[in-house]
Amino acid sequence: MKRITILGSTGSIGTQALEVVRDHPTTFKVVVLSALKNSALLIQQAKEFKPAIVVICDESKYSEVKNALSTLNIKVLAGEAALSEVAAYGDSDLVLTALMGSVGLKPTIAAIKAGKNIALANKETLVVAGELITELAAEHQVKILPVDSEHSAIFQCLVGEEQNEIEKIYLTASGGPFLGKTKDFLSTVKKEQALKHPNWVMGAKITIDSASLMNKGLEVIEAKWLFNLDVDQIEVIVHPQSIIHSIVQFTDGSMKAQMGVPDMKLPIQYALNYPDRLKNDFKRFNFLDYPNFSFQTADMETFRNLNLAFTSLRKGGNMPCILNAANEIVVEAFLKDKIGFLQMSDVIEQCMEEISFVENPQLSDYLETDKHSRILAGELVTKSIV
Ligand code: MN
Repeated sequence: MKRITILGSTGSIGTQALEVVRDHPTTFKVVVLSALKNSALLIQQAKEFKPAIVVICDESKYSEVKNALSTLNIKVLAGEAALSEVAAYGDSDLVLTALMGSVGLKPTIAAIKAGKNIALANKETLVVAGELITELAAEHQVKILPVDSEHSAIFQCLVGEEQNEIEKIYLTASGGPFLGKTKDFLSTVKKEQALKHPNWVMGAKITIDSASLMNKGLEVIEAKWLFNLDVDQIEVIVHPQSIIHSIVQFTDGSMKAQMGVPDMKLPIQYALNYPDRLKNDFKRFNFLDYPNFSFQTADMETFRNLNLAFTSLRKGGNMPCILNAANEIVVEAFLKDKIGFLQMSDVIEQCMEEISFVENPQLSDYLETDKHSRILAGELVTKSIV
């Protein structure tokens, strides 16, 4: 049995991971669950999956969780710092990082240092500190198994190709709900429109990121570190059907793609049970439902976030960390109707211009940058007129 720690068990990826575990009770055993603040769902999950430990990050909900689980033999911890403690928990084989945002950085580092393989759903960790994380993983001989569908696709295409060089990868993008829209249109959109993704069902933050193409920008940075690529080896291609999840092109020009119906449970399951595939009854692809696949270039002029992400990656250092922290703040502000859709890019760009650049950051630099960028982005949001 594979023993699994799930950090972020009440979110979209966490709940789908538990569905996979539920369908394969003799393959997986959940040993740790953690939630940010959804205590009711965490309690329900703990009663069903009976982990050894649960963490509720919101300390005000500690007694509620503790009391609800008092008759079960489950240790209850509270607070964000407990995440790093449980990430290194001895009796676990794999840590699924399904937390939202750069809060995933410290627990991921703790898990790697404890020699745990990582199923990485928290792309922000690699965006913020990709170099540090990949070096640490190599040092501790830990595998980073991507859960992000595009990166899982590339990862799957690379099986058996260890001795072969990658010429280029194509990250596919659905284009989100605003594909083909103009800046004029985008200047008036509200969160309700942005939250309607055509193909994928996901959490609010990543759905807004998909609408603004920041998600694809973060994925470009994630891909650089996961697959050790130069920025010029990564191209984004819009494929609105979301059936081809990404493509690897080798040095002979041959291309391998991974395809399937868009369902996050597939990459989750692949990461959890790597290298073996598990049988399932997920919906199968039918060619007649998709007689035409289409492709187009991404409009980086209108969707400036994607351009900003490429710029941050070219500049390197702490620049992607600035981009990510500012983005977390503006997305939260957009979800609270405090800022317009296009203003999100303005704030991010200003943070990239104003926060001090650090060429070779250490962990402490990343943490400082993250903090300063959040403060500046918050101030810029307050000043902005919607
Ligand atoms: Mn993705």
